[in-house]
Amino acid sequence: MTDSKEIWVLGDYRNYFHSRVTLQILARASSLAEKTGGRVCAVVFGDHVDEYVNEYIAHGAEKVYVIDDPALKNYSVENYSFLMTQLVHEFKPETLLVGATRFGQEIAPRVAKYLKTGLTADCIDLEIDEKGRLVQIAPSFGGNLIAKIITPEKRPQMATVRPGTFQELTHDYDAKGEVIRLPLPSDLPKEKIRCIRSEYKPSRNRKLEEADIVIIGGRGMGSKRKFKKLFELAELVNGEVGATRPVVYADWISHDALVGQAGKHIKPRVLFSFGVSGAIQHTAAVTDADFIVAINKNPNATMMKMADVAIMADANQVCSGIIRAVKDKIRD
Ligand SMILES: Cc1cc2nc3c(=O)[nH]c(=O)nc-3n(C[C@H](O)[C@H](O)[C@H](O)COP(=O)(O)OP(=O)(O)OC[C@H]3O[C@@H](n4cnc5c(N)ncnc54)[C@H](O)[C@@H]3O)c2cc1C
Repeated sequence: MTDSKEIWVLGDYRNYFHSRVTLQILARASSLAEKTGGRVCAVVFGDHVDEYVNEYIAHGAEKVYVIDDPALKNYSVENYSFLMTQLVHEFKPETLLVGATRFGQEIAPRVAKYLKTGLTADCIDLEIDEKGRLVQIAPSFGGNLIAKIITPEKRPQMATVRPGTFQELTHDYDAKGEVIRLPLPSDLPKEKIRCIRSEYKPSRNRKLEEADIVIIGGRGMGSKRKFKKLFELAELVNGEVGATRPVVYADWISHDALVGQAGKHIKPRVLFSFGVSGAIQHTAAVTDADFIVAINKNPNATMMKMADVAIMADANQVCSGIIRAVKDKIRD
């Protein structure tokens, strides 16, 4: 155990500004630090990364550890994991949090292994217990349980956190933070993978996490052709379409529309849920919706019980009915 009370957040700035996961974790780290009396720190590796350093300070980082070097221009899992491990050995943070992006999912387990500490992947919440330890809350046993996990002895306490789980703090233009600039170590491992070119592939459904209105279709929509109606409704109400796992597996919509444990966490003002049973792996990611309208033939479906308005009916008929009603309203 160390005396350091620092909570570190790995700066994942790829696809910035669309990907906000680092800012979201910094916000949660700030509220955790209030309970532990610790300091919130970001860690940034890369080349010409000052804009991210400033951004992290404006979103809650009180201190930023930076290694800024042309040798880090291209992301390398070996180098980044090595650097993070070195820094942890040197500065001994109490906690290390990483976004559960592909980048974080690659780095975090390696760092945990090098440090011989535990790691809870895909957390959907983080708390502090009465002993000041990090409570890592994550779906477990195939998603059938929500587990509260602690790391009693090893440090740092490590967790990855799903994008969209927490709300980022408002940008504070007056925020001041300490910046610790560190040199690139000379013993960086030789990279096994060399990046020749990278290109940004925009996600069609990246707006899902930010949308005010989300329309989710489940297996109860019946077919790909019927599922398409949801896009028409989304277009009319300026919403985004999401889906459950069977729908994604059936290729009615692409994988990036998946909502749930293995997909996106959403927090819309209104959620329409058509033909969705409400398995925990799905509902864990929709509980932040302000208002839920569920449409299902089965009144006992979990989604119907969670809903503010539960309509016991055929999902397709209700979808067509809403489309007609909205169109009529627009015409009036
Ligand atoms: C490790 C793991 C991770 C998982 N991750 C995810 C995840 O991220 N996201 C996810 O969604 N799932 C995930 N799942 C799968 C999850 O357990 C459920 O199987 C899935 O969410 C069910 O999808 P569904 O509600 O569309 O289908 P079903 O459970 O088959 O439900 C269909 C519903 O439609 C209703 N229905 C049928 N016909 C009609 C009709 N004509 N009109 C109205 N209602 C109708 C039925 O009453 C039923 O309630 C995961 C599972 C595991 C094991």
